[in-house]
Amino acid sequence: MPDRDFEPGSVWLVGAGPGDPELLTRKAERLIRAADVIFHDALVGPGVLALAPASARLISVGKRSGRHSKDQRTIDQLIVEAALAGSRVVRLKGGDPSIFGRATEELDACARAGILARICPGVTAASAAAASLNLSLTSRGLARRLTFVTAHVRAGDKLELDWSALADPEATLAIYMGKAAAPAVAVGLIAAGLAADTPVALVENASLGEARHFFTRLDLLPLAARTAVGDGPTLILVGAAIGEPARLNQATALKTAPSSNAGAGRPNK
Ligand code: SAH
Repeated sequence: MPDRDFEPGSVWLVGAGPGDPELLTRKAERLIRAADVIFHDALVGPGVLALAPASARLISVGKRSGRHSKDQRTIDQLIVEAALAGSRVVRLKGGDPSIFGRATEELDACARAGILARICPGVTAASAAAASLNLSLTSRGLARRLTFVTAHVRAGDKLELDWSALADPEATLAIYMGKAAAPAVAVGLIAAGLAADTPVALVENASLGEARHFFTRLDLLPLAARTAVGDGPTLILVGAAIGEPARLNQATALKTAPSSNAGAGRPNK
């Protein structure tokens, strides 16, 4: 079936969600199935890539912290060249393309080249992490605000965040790319007034079979980031809502009866 909204020579930035192919939108699946070329991040799981037609060219453009990957300008260029050659191009990104996904650069590069580029949203890691903990990111009386923040810094740079704005006891913080900077995050938030015993959860590989959860408190976050999770993508959640009784029930349930989707391979902490 020809896709009305996917003309040859156009680009879709498609959210691949957190990994579980069932968390793809139907639109994302349709666009993937219609693509001639798919440029994907390392975080996009095999279950999602398996939906690509046999005729599509799959090109990994890296993006896993600490490992070699193509730089952003090269990626922008590859997307533009493929579209100018008349391909239907899918740029497949983990989670939601508009959250810490360098979507602006890619949209701008396409606009400069006169290429039509659109976004298909996806389930972001924070949503998947909360779902896998069976807790709510916002909660009446506990979390009136939800902040998405990245703690990624380039090698050699110092993490500069507005700690006083982030240290809000009525907020939930969803920290992306925060594992390496966990010590700076804990120190910064506590120095800005957030209680040392503020509940924290680390969720590695949310939505995937090898998911791991770990509950701790803010002052112990650096230790947990170093020892409780592996080298998979990890989301850090901070805030009173993370300590809600509902999740304690879930944590108990997880210990006794891991869901069919959890526990394969690694222990479910
Ligand atoms: N656009 C993506 C985020 C890209 S930044 C989104 O909306 O989710 C990459 C970071 O996202 C990782 O370092 C990690 O902090 C988080 N992340 C992505 N997938 C994840 C997953 N399945 N489980 C836990 N964290 C994940």
